[in-house]
Amino acid sequence: MKNTEAYFVCYVLSIFHVVSATNQLILISFDGFRHDYLQKTKLPNIEGIADNGVKAPYIVSTFTTKTLVNHFTSVTGVSAETHGIMNNVFYDKTLKRDLSAKDALFWQWGIGTITPIWSANEAIPGKYSGSSMWPGSTFVDRPTYDIPFNLSIPWKDRIDTALKWIVNEEKPAAFVSLYFEEPDMTAHLYGPDSKEVVDMLHTVDNTTGYILQRLTEMNLIDDFNVIITSDHGFTSVNSEKMINISAIVSTDSCTFHGDTPVMHVLPKEGLEEYVYNRFKKASASQNFTVYLNTELPKEWGYSNPDRTLPIVLVADEGYVFDDFDKTMDWMESAYNRTKSPKTTYGNHGYDPRLSSMHPFFVAQGPQFKSNFIGKPFHIVDMYEMMCRLLGISEVPFNEGKLERVEEYLLISHSIPWYEDSILIGFGVLVALAFIASVFLLLWISCSVKRSKVTIRVKSPSPRRKVPDDTKERWETEGLLYFNKFEEV
Ligand SMILES: [Zn+2]
Repeated sequence: MKNTEAYFVCYVLSIFHVVSATNQLILISFDGFRHDYLQKTKLPNIEGIADNGVKAPYIVSTFTTKTLVNHFTSVTGVSAETHGIMNNVFYDKTLKRDLSAKDALFWQWGIGTITPIWSANEAIPGKYSGSSMWPGSTFVDRPTYDIPFNLSIPWKDRIDTALKWIVNEEKPAAFVSLYFEEPDMTAHLYGPDSKEVVDMLHTVDNTTGYILQRLTEMNLIDDFNVIITSDHGFTSVNSEKMINISAIVSTDSCTFHGDTPVMHVLPKEGLEEYVYNRFKKASASQNFTVYLNTELPKEWGYSNPDRTLPIVLVADEGYVFDDFDKTMDWMESAYNRTKSPKTTYGNHGYDPRLSSMHPFFVAQGPQFKSNFIGKPFHIVDMYEMMCRLLGISEVPFNEGKLERVEEYLLISHSIPWYEDSILIGFGVLVALAFIASVFLLLWISCSVKRSKVTIRVKSPSPRRKVPDDTKERWETEGLLYFNKFEEV
């Protein structure tokens, strides 16, 4: 009986192990981590993930290669024209005003079309999601757990809070996303090739080490898939490479919306052709490209009907528009960064096809291959990957391609949630059948004992001679059967 009990306990545990060991994911972004930062210095924890799991040579961001655009793309699987986040600030033609990230309407253009990965996960019965400051998570289908954007919260506290969501007894989070604002800020201030960025990369690596250490201590390291990635790369800039676009066309003829290196232009009524021609002529000798909104490269996915203005200016790599002057002023006042033509800063937002704009990607976990380097993929494809990792069988609409990320996965088609449920259901049925058979055996055993008593009561005293007909009656009534059974 003891062996059977032990088997039963092991069986039940094995069922729950199957459930807990798959379809769980921690998505981590270190803002502005360029793909080749891994070659800058030794980053043992991040490199360890690549060794234990997978690494992409780089991934390709969506246009513009800005923070909010790409963080929202990675969790929705669609480009800017579909989710509507065109830049960190942009103009909406319907609302007739500029929108920034603090405004709920900034995030909501794509609602009805997009499904953030945290909601796709929560569509599975019994699955919960959490987000620590991931752009958009406070505004679109807010997940069960959420830390709103607040950079004053220490990184360790964000991690500890997210890990508490995972082990919550009532609503354990199977998907958690964590956003960290570095090494982006340091690269903006000092440029991507600075010593300061290298120092910050070590902080980022130590943070990764802390996450892995806590997962190990909590006995979760083998059960969770962990993706560490970013939103865009970086390039060095300085004010010697500044293009004065407001000198090409003054604000009497148009208004400018957005920020370096992508500027949308809204010409005043009747001046569309004039404004376009002025920029077109200037772009022949200066380092930027001018596009009509109908001429934007299709692969950029940047033609939103309400949020792409008639003319779009894009600076060449390393060049900035004159709005950058205000950014330099802010860096001087807030961070004591001396403003001079020779001061090196960093920037991003340029054409995603540029190598400098490519972010990195490493991952490990039960559903990833080991020590595997695959092909580069597009940031929109990560959504398809995450749906497989989370066991989302009915993958919501997205613009990604599974075939570009499938090679990274150990099980290219992981167990869909309903098959998980079938497995759980089957396990529960077996457990119930087991319990029922234990009760049946106990009942039979008790009945035998009862029947023994009954027989003794009903049996004639051994000193009495049993008449043949009585013995016959016992056989007929099955009483001898129990006597035989007892003997066995
Ligand atoms: Zn960023």
